[in-house]
Amino acid sequence: MVGGNWKCNGTKESIETLCASLSTLELPSDANVEVMIAPSSLHATMTRSLLPEVYQIGVQNCWTGKGGAFTGESSAEMIKDLGIDWVIIGHSERRHLPILKESDETIAQKVAYALEKGLKVMPCIGELLEEREAGKTNEVNERQLKAIADAVTDWTNVVLAYEPVWAIGTGKVATPEQAQEVHAHLRAWISDNVSVEVAQSVRILYGGSVSPKNCEELSKQPDVDGFLVGGASLKPDFITVIKSYE
Ligand code: PEP
Repeated sequence: MVGGNWKCNGTKESIETLCASLSTLELPSDANVEVMIAPSSLHATMTRSLLPEVYQIGVQNCWTGKGGAFTGESSAEMIKDLGIDWVIIGHSERRHLPILKESDETIAQKVAYALEKGLKVMPCIGELLEEREAGKTNEVNERQLKAIADAVTDWTNVVLAYEPVWAIGTGKVATPEQAQEVHAHLRAWISDNVSVEVAQSVRILYGGSVSPKNCEELSKQPDVDGFLVGGASLKPDFITVIKSYE
């Protein structure tokens, strides 16, 4: 699976132009890749109408529960009602931006509620640079993953994204070996703590400065089942990244 996270970017005009380019994507009928684009919530419906069905649409966040007096938020029910299938939850920018600071618990609540309402969820986990340098990569990812795993009863609609924070938007991509090492560790954790079946079937995406230049090598790693792409998904050659999993 390849996801594109457009973050807080886009105008009507730039999205029309980008969608026209992305619409040229042709995949063979037996293509082995799902594609999901997550524009801003404001642009989700427009993007749905501009892209062919081969693209699934997601948003980048949702509220923790049922809607109501929560100014500025969007509930899982609203997202579903608009025909949007996916929601990214717990992106590092939501975990670490000082005014957002989403906790593991908040993220777990969002995952549970979005799944209950029938959305497909893409929870994100990943360590900060200082945590990696302190030898805490596995500890941090296990803690974040445990909070999510405790909120999931059925993994069918869950695709996990491992996104080391030091690689996001920095141009400093993890090496294929670094990505593989963490992905294998996460899969082993899932095998030990959830089930062998879920460990085998759940897709674990890598995110962090993936581009048309580095996607080929990363895609060859046995436990890297796809990508979540930020900056490079705003450009027409995002198609090259998708095709690395064709
Ligand atoms: C992201 O936003 O999820 C991401 C991985 O960003 P980038 O590809 O720009 O590093």
